[in-house]
Formats: sequence, C-alpha cells, structure tokens
Amino acid sequence: MSAETTRPLLLIDVDGVLNPFRRPGPEWFRTKCSADGRSYNMLLNPAHGPKLLDLAATVGCDLVWATTWEHDANTEISPKIGLPELPVIEVDRDNRWRDRGVDVMFKTPHVADWVKGRPFVWLDDDLTDLDEAYLREHEGVGDFLVIHVDGQFGLTDGDLVEATVWLIEHGSPAGEQS
Ligand SMILES: [Mg+2]
Repeated sequence: MSAETTRPLLLIDVDGVLNPFRRPGPEWFRTKCSADGRSYNMLLNPAHGPKLLDLAATVGCDLVWATTWEHDANTEISPKIGLPELPVIEVDRDNRWRDRGVDVMFKTPHVADWVKGRPFVWLDDDLTDLDEAYLREHEGVGDFLVIHVDGQFGLTDGDLVEATVWLIEHGSPAGEQS
C-alpha cells in the first residue's frame, strides 16, 4: 500500500471538542457559526488550529472532520481557528435522530466505513464502549484510539498529548519507521 493510504488519521469533532459547552478560559472567544441557515453560538480557541497542525506535522497524520457540521466545518470553523480545508466524513446529519437499529452513535458506522484500515485517533465527546465495540468488530477498521473528550471543557492539551503518543506508536506500519 502507498504511504498515502496508510497514513494515520486524526478525526475531529466540533461540538463538545472544539466548541465546549461552557467557556474553559479566556483563550476561548465567543462567535457565531452557521449551518443550514441557522446561526449557533460557539466558543472557539484560536490556538487549537495551530496545535492540531503541529501535531499532524509531528506524527505525520491527516486531520479529518467527523462532525455534524460536515462541510460547514470547513467554511465556518476552520477559518476562525487557523485550520485549512480538511477532508470531511459525511455522517448523514439530517437523519441523525432516526432509529437505525443499532446502539451506536450515528457517526460511528460512517467513520467505520471511511477509515479503510488506516490507524486513527478519534476526538469526540459522545462515544461509549458500544461504539468502540462496533469499530473493533467492523471489517476494514484497523488500530484506533477513541479519546473521550469532556464536553464541558472541550479539547485539552492532555488530549493532544495522548493522541500524539498513540499516533507515534501506532502510526507507521512495521518496517516503515524512520
Ligand atoms: Mg460532539
């Protein structure tokens, strides 16, 4: 496989991760972001974009949106925190409240289908053991780590360190470590 298809991924949620449910500190600024013609009050931290880009450069991974904001994350969130346009995992957000007959979060089957065996870390505030079990049992899902971000505080430096350590250990297939 080419390096491009084996590069590890860092999947990023917005609400509860980049946009915590309360303001953790003065670094977070209040702003409004729009999706589907609705405006939402947001709390964003301008340091998060540079920190995520630094992490991606350090470990050699690709940043990917895994959020109900879908493509709106690239137009509404990225420019405000210094991220470039990122690939988007479409999560069928319009049907997120529908009963799908499985006890996993609505994003999880879409993530499982998208990763194609690439190792990944998933930063999300809304996943449970059931999601991790679903991923482990899903054909085409390789090594992964779910980091359960606390939605009250959002993404912390500790979460980023945990992601970095795991991606360095698991990111490169055996024999490709430099
Ligand atoms: Mg969330």
